[in-house]
Amino acid sequence: MVSESAGIIVHELSGIPTTGPLVDSFGRLIRNLRISITDRCNFRCTYCMPEEGLEWLPNDAILTFEEIDRLSRLFVRLGINEIRLTGGEPTLRRDLPDLIARLAPLEADGLKSLSLTTNGILLPRLAPALASAGLTRINVSLDTLDQKRFWQVTRRDALDQVMAGLESLEAYPTITPIKVNAVAVRGFTREEDILALAGLARRKPYVMRFIEFMPLDAEGNWETDQVLPGDEIRAIINAQWPLDVIPGQDPSSTAVTYRFSDGLGDVGFINPVTQPFCRTCDRIRLTADGQLRTCLFSVDETDLKSPMRNGADDTDLERLIRQAVWAKEQKHKINEGEAFQRASRSMSQIGG
Ligand code: SAM
Ligand code: SF4
Repeated sequence: MVSESAGIIVHELSGIPTTGPLVDSFGRLIRNLRISITDRCNFRCTYCMPEEGLEWLPNDAILTFEEIDRLSRLFVRLGINEIRLTGGEPTLRRDLPDLIARLAPLEADGLKSLSLTTNGILLPRLAPALASAGLTRINVSLDTLDQKRFWQVTRRDALDQVMAGLESLEAYPTITPIKVNAVAVRGFTREEDILALAGLARRKPYVMRFIEFMPLDAEGNWETDQVLPGDEIRAIINAQWPLDVIPGQDPSSTAVTYRFSDGLGDVGFINPVTQPFCRTCDRIRLTADGQLRTCLFSVDETDLKSPMRNGADDTDLERLIRQAVWAKEQKHKINEGEAFQRASRSMSQIGG
């Protein structure tokens, strides 16, 4: 059956739950939403985008704060309890603290975590405003502690600012934990880089996480042999500083986290290629231009922006969301040779 409302054709949902929390056809509960608030970036990480950048979305294609707020409220009503703002580089979005301040009160409706993923360069200036707006968690991307190599990865000379940004966060205990994410690429990431980053998590109360390189680079240069498995990285660190797995971790978490016997912080491994965690995936994504994606590797999307701008009410949007979530992909096929199809957008355009 098909119903028409506000000019949008919405298929009645056969077999798809129309109430209760968001669930997909494999029985996975969807709790975690990543919202990209811009596709632009001031870095050019080699594993993410080309030196010249990408063709950015026009301003009017990007969701306004009002639209993000409206959709976030709806998602939280549908059981989303974690929202992470990302991009592109989310700190480039003007008045970001105002957006955080709008979303933070969703805590009263069940939002447990409001976080930000950033390259960190603007944190020295923004940290106080982000903290007072109600940000509760942060992930800062940092792949090396070596100046020259930092430039080689990001094509920017900004290591000092990122380190200062991390340090500025330490003044705000309401933002916790401070996570630091490094993408490891075989052929680039060296033992010295790994140990220096792990050493940072021994000296500082950070959760240092190593992420395997995924085929989401805009240039399509990813090769299997560039994947540096998390287990290899763990063995390198463990040989220097013995690690103990932290018991009782959330099974839907992407990372497995370890404790040093004598460090302030922890170290985690996100191994989407060598140890896929699709079976417990509880994540969906909203792109900066309002497209709902149910997998990083989705080849199609559900447009929420156009219906919203054409007058759809929350019931219409809820139907579209439930339908898209129900059809969430079972798993990625990175390790399945010919069966693997690249995602329809690259990481910075999706919102990692
Ligand atoms: N610009 C922000 C940043 O770098 O933190 C947020 C957006 S960025 C796309 C989100 C995360 O995706 C970062 O931690 C980045 O390192 C990671 N990333 C980008 N390209 C990747 C790839 N091809 N494989 C794995 N992780 C990637
Ligand atoms: Fe920008 Fe983040 Fe991509 Fe680096 S990883 S180019 S900082 S979006």
